[in-house]
Amino acid sequence: MTTADIIVIGGGVIGGSIAYHLLARDPRLKVVLLEKETEVGTGATSKATGGVRHQFSTEANIRLTQLSYPYFAETERILGRSVDFVPHGYLFVTTEPRTFEQLKKNVALQQRLGIKSRLVAPSEMKPMLSQLVVDDLIGGTFCPDDGSADPHGLLQGFLALARERGLRILTSEPVVSVTREGKRVVGVETPRDRYRAHVVVNAAGPYGDQVGALADVAIPSKPYRRQVMVTDPLPDFPDVFPLIVDLDTGWYVHRQGKSAVLMGGTDKDQHPGYDTTVGWEAFDLVFKAAGKRVPPLAEAKVMRAYAGVRDLTPDYHGILCEAREAPGFYIACGFSGHGFMHSPAIGLLMAELILDGRATSMDIAALSLERFKAGAVGTEANMF
Ligand SMILES: Cc1cc2nc3c(=O)[nH]c(=O)nc-3n(C[C@H](O)[C@H](O)[C@H](O)COP(=O)(O)OP(=O)(O)OC[C@H]3O[C@@H](n4cnc5c(N)ncnc54)[C@H](O)[C@@H]3O)c2cc1C
Repeated sequence: MTTADIIVIGGGVIGGSIAYHLLARDPRLKVVLLEKETEVGTGATSKATGGVRHQFSTEANIRLTQLSYPYFAETERILGRSVDFVPHGYLFVTTEPRTFEQLKKNVALQQRLGIKSRLVAPSEMKPMLSQLVVDDLIGGTFCPDDGSADPHGLLQGFLALARERGLRILTSEPVVSVTREGKRVVGVETPRDRYRAHVVVNAAGPYGDQVGALADVAIPSKPYRRQVMVTDPLPDFPDVFPLIVDLDTGWYVHRQGKSAVLMGGTDKDQHPGYDTTVGWEAFDLVFKAAGKRVPPLAEAKVMRAYAGVRDLTPDYHGILCEAREAPGFYIACGFSGHGFMHSPAIGLLMAELILDGRATSMDIAALSLERFKAGAVGTEANMF
């Protein structure tokens, strides 16, 4: 039997951020992180393409990026290392009048919250990437502060500092049951050991609903495959250009390193599951969408392709709360395609929730589990 103050289940960027923020607040805490795989960071975090954006349609998602942003823009100061953040901007484009109306609403909300996003006419987009076809577009939105960074670097940054403050990380340690006394959660079990703690945090990413079920807590988050293709070097493309999202198809493209580009985003409607086999049919969709929007990309050669799993909730917002029906059981999962960029904020807010009894850095009502019982509100519209 091992005793601790807090058990964190899951060694991805969310679990790492939570452990870091808890120990940054109070290094005397005994925090144990349990990871089922042989190493941390091999789940969704290892597949994230590193995008960081403010351009969401709901206040909760925008505020989560605002809270997280310093961890990208000033990582050296906060974590003592770089996460290779490049603020190349995100450009959303559409040919659909209805989508453009939504984009206008998004920008109005973003600007009200202090974000530097703006509507852009097709003629303004061409200088951002000369190969972009703009003739058929109605318009789009651009935010220069959006960008991308290194997910692995951020996770290692969190874990290195947390380890210095006493975090114990145990790998090959899958949580197979959650221990309760009455309603209260008081620990977990793995095949090797029993752990006792008055706080257990479910940061199991795409396995969050399964870990929830161990505590009899229903979590409406499901795993969905997401595929990505990286091309051979494309010297005719600029070194830096915005991450471009064609909202008509969901297709997106951005630089990968100095010479290749990364594409994906047309495979949104898969069935739930953990299969990460690359489905070659996705290539047709990606290349069709690429050929329409950036024709030279239709000729690009694929250097590598891979698939990961995102944990999606019905309204594309994460879940961050203590389970009402299981006191002591805290949930931080369901972060869809934005768990990497929101991980700093989630760690900070979870530490407040656990140590202060409530989150103070922002209102997290939109992230509660209870919202689903009342009928999900405020679905994120800027999804691809
Ligand atoms: C292809 C792709 C591209 C993406 N691009 C972006 C992007 O550009 N920007 C962005 O912000 N997000 C992106 N995401 C989403 C992002 O990757 C996730 O939201 C984020 O990594 C979630 O982190 P996590 O720690 O919750 O999950 P994970 O990294 O999956 O970590 C959860 C950990 O829990 C462990 N675990 C599960 N069950 C148990 C158990 N019973 N016991 C012990 N351990 C357990 C797992 O092994 C895993 O290591 C992308 C995702 C994919 C798949």
